[in-house]
Amino acid sequence: QSTERYAVVTGANKGIGFETVRQLAAAGVTVVLTARNEKRGTEATSLLHGLGYSNVQYHQLDVQDLQSIEALAKFIQTQFGKLDILVNNAGATGVVVDEDGLKALNIDPESWLSGKATNIVQGVMKTTYDKAKECLDTNYYGVKNLTRALLPLLQRSASGGRIVNVSSLRGELWRIPNEEIRKELADVETLSEEKIDGFVEKFLHDVRNDELEVNGWSKMLPAYSVSKAMLNAYTRVLAKTYKNMCINCVHPGYVDTDLNWHTGTLTLEEGAQGSVMLALLPEGGLTGCYFDRTQVAEF
Ligand code: NDP
Repeated sequence: QSTERYAVVTGANKGIGFETVRQLAAAGVTVVLTARNEKRGTEATSLLHGLGYSNVQYHQLDVQDLQSIEALAKFIQTQFGKLDILVNNAGATGVVVDEDGLKALNIDPESWLSGKATNIVQGVMKTTYDKAKECLDTNYYGVKNLTRALLPLLQRSASGGRIVNVSSLRGELWRIPNEEIRKELADVETLSEEKIDGFVEKFLHDVRNDELEVNGWSKMLPAYSVSKAMLNAYTRVLAKTYKNMCINCVHPGYVDTDLNWHTGTLTLEEGAQGSVMLALLPEGGLTGCYFDRTQVAEF
């Protein structure tokens, strides 16, 4: 089997994902830069080729689309016959910015959306059911479906395969007001995929019925927080199932990207460090952990 290492990075046409591809390519890994939009994906890949990273290839991937996931898995199978690294980086916020709210605060929506605003005002973001669903479908179910499709290829990696789930400090357990849910998510011994799916469905039910507060879900960016808390829990379930792999989740830091309207303070280079470190962990490295950038932290 080839000693070359192969990686897939999702949502890599821009932001932290793009920089993760660049750093992995610089470390000598052959990287599949994936993006849901062909034009954005091929442009990002050309940019990296122009910088001398000829070991980057583009492949389309929308993590919400099962056919697209299947097509990527087939491509990896045919081209490489194995996969060494999967970085689940693609993410959605689950909020819409309320333009009337911005106006009431004298914030020009144009400057807000073009990234000139320097301060996120929580009151002007709201969750709708469709946005919450899109968020869970991307950050949780998208990761699960892609991981399931690529696991057989990851298991063929000589070093055991690495999975990096890009999470957020918004998914840390202390932020979930409902004590029962918090306790269940913290108990790694009894956690299972079915249990986590159950919480996700309960959350979406509560969004639909306007019952978020009574049932003790986070008030700030609720869908996003829940998606990342469930992603962390899923990471732990995977790690206890596939003991020969290194499977971890990471908060990249507060990074200057489109996701936060460029209010983040870290550079892309700093933001990708955690993902890249975990992607390149040596054999026998840590697994089932949550990292705040490059340091192990409490779930
Ligand atoms: P960006 O908005 O720059 O990038 C997000 C990427 O995800 C884009 O490439 C976007 O594609 C892609 N994406 C969204 N939905 C899908 C989908 N269905 N299928 C495939 N790709 C999709 O954000 P960041 O670089 O900041 O975010 C990267 C990760 O880091 C996310 O998981 C985010 O939650 C996490 N994170 C970021 C923080 C920060 O401060 N920036 C803090 C904590 C966590 P497109 O361009 O087509 O929309």
